[in-house]
Amino acid sequence: MSSELVTKEEEEHDHVDTFEDLGLSSPLLRSIRNLGYEHPTPIQCQSIPYLLQGRDLIASSQTGTGKTAAFALPILSSLKGKGKLRALILEPTRELAAQVYNAFVEFAKYLDFRFALLQGGVRYEQQRRQIRRGADIMIATPGRLLDFVYRRELSFEHLEVLVLDEADRMLDMGFMPDVRTILKHCPSKRQSVLFSATLQPKIEQLARWMLKNPAKACIDVGVSAAQTVNHAIFPVDERQKFDLLQALLKSVEFKNVIIFVRTKIGTDQIARWLSAAGFSGLVVLHADRRQREREHALRLFKSGKAPILVATDIVSRGIDIAEVSHVINYDIPLNPEDYIHRIGRTGRMYKEGEAITLCTVADRDPLFSIERLIGEKIPHRELEGFNYKNKPVLHVRIRPKSKKRNADYSPHNNFSNKRRSRRRR
Ligand code: AMP
Repeated sequence: MSSELVTKEEEEHDHVDTFEDLGLSSPLLRSIRNLGYEHPTPIQCQSIPYLLQGRDLIASSQTGTGKTAAFALPILSSLKGKGKLRALILEPTRELAAQVYNAFVEFAKYLDFRFALLQGGVRYEQQRRQIRRGADIMIATPGRLLDFVYRRELSFEHLEVLVLDEADRMLDMGFMPDVRTILKHCPSKRQSVLFSATLQPKIEQLARWMLKNPAKACIDVGVSAAQTVNHAIFPVDERQKFDLLQALLKSVEFKNVIIFVRTKIGTDQIARWLSAAGFSGLVVLHADRRQREREHALRLFKSGKAPILVATDIVSRGIDIAEVSHVINYDIPLNPEDYIHRIGRTGRMYKEGEAITLCTVADRDPLFSIERLIGEKIPHRELEGFNYKNKPVLHVRIRPKSKKRNADYSPHNNFSNKRRSRRRR
C-alpha cells in the first residue's frame, strides 16, 4: 500500500495479549468469554486500539482471521446513546450480511442495542419495521439499503461509524457506484473503516476518497494463500473431469467439502450428476437460488447434515464455516484472487485444510496467473488407482501467437524464400 495513505507511522501492538489489554467494555468481555475466544487474533490486536481511539482505518487480512470481531467489538464498545442509526456496516452478499448481523447480535448479548439487517431477496415489510422501530446498528447490502434511501425511509444524519467490509469483493461485483452514492448520503464527520482482503490500486483510490488520516492494519500484506491449507493441482483430461471428481469424493476422507463450479448452470448440473451417481447430503448455492433456499442450504451445510456444498464463487469470500475439511475447485477460478478466497474456506482460524484443483490443458493460463499471484508453484498430484486415459501436460506454457503484422516473416523461412524466388522469376 502506498505510504502516503498512512499518515501515522505504523504502530506495533505487540504488548496486547488479552482482550482485557485492548480496553473493551466489560459486557463485551463477558460475551467474548462465552464464545470461548481466549486471545485476540493479530488483526484484532492491530485494529481494535485504533478504532477505539476513533480513527479511520484501512485493514487488510486473510479471510477467517477474525476480522468481523476486529470492527464489531470496538463499535459495540464505544457507541453511546440509543434509538438513532449510528453505525452502518456494508457487506457485498446477503449471506455475509446475515453472518455479520448474527456476530453483532452475539457480541452484544449483554448490551442494549437494536440491530437491523437489510438484504435483498426478502420482503421489504419486516425490514421496514426494523427501521421504524429505530435501529442503532445496521448491517446491509448496498442495493437494498439504497432502495430505502431513495424512498426516503432511511436517513444517515446521526451516523457516527461506517464500515465497508470486503471492499474488493464490492468492487468485483460492481457495487462501487452504489457504495459511492451511500457515502454521499453520510455525514462527512464520521469514523470510516475499510476492510479488504487485497489492497489493489482501485481500493487505495477509494480509501483516499473515503478515509481521513487513516491508520493501517495489515496482516500478511499482499496476497498469500492461507498458510494452513495444503493445496494441489490434479491434472485431468476434460472428458474425465467428472469421473475424477467422483473418485476423489469416494477416496478422500472429508468432513465437509465445498465444490466450486464456475457458472450457475454448471453448479446445478454437477449437483444433478452427483445425485444421480448416488451422492447424498448435497446442497447447492448460487445467486439464482431464492434467498430462502440459499439460507436453507447454508444451514444444512453448517450443521453437517449436508456435507457436500456445490457452489459458485458466491461462497468463496467471508462465509464462516468452521469445519470445512476440503475445497475442490471443479473449475479453476479465472480471477486468481478468487483462488485464495476459495481455498480460504478451509484452514480457517489456523485449522488444517486441503484444497484440490482439477486442471485441464485449457486451464493452463489461469493456473499460471494463480501461481504468479501467490508466488509459488502448486504441487501436482495424481489420484492413485484412477484410470487416467490421457494425462494433460500442464507445465509447458503455450505462448499466444503474436498478432503483429508480418510476425511470421523471416528471411530464412521457406515461405518467404519461396515468395522471393517466385518474384525473382
Ligand atoms: P471472521 O474472519 O470474522 O469470519 O472469523 C472467523 C471465525 O473466527 C469466526 O467463527 C469467529 O467466531 C472466530 N473468531 C474470531 N475471533 C476469534 C478469537 N479471538 N479467538 C477464537 N475464535 C475467533
